[in-house]
Amino acid sequence: MGELLTITNILIIMTLIVNVITLIVVVMHIKNSEEKKESVIETVVPPLTPSTTSNEIGVVFCRSCNKPYDSTLTICPDCKESRS
Ligand SMILES: [Zn+2]
Repeated sequence: MGELLTITNILIIMTLIVNVITLIVVVMHIKNSEEKKESVIETVVPPLTPSTTSNEIGVVFCRSCNKPYDSTLTICPDCKESRS
């Protein structure tokens, strides 16, 4: 009895989620079709990521202990060895 109610509740929640997703998709589709002429130019140009460190993709390796760490850090978090 209790399990049946839980399954029914899950089904109701899933149906609601599907309905919400469908609604969002429909709304987005309507918005896209309305702003078609304006959005075409914007979507052609992809957002350029800042390529200040093209060789290092967010991770650098410590010279001392050889462990990888975030390139935004100036010193190694493990052995406090400076990058430069
Ligand atoms: Zn280190």
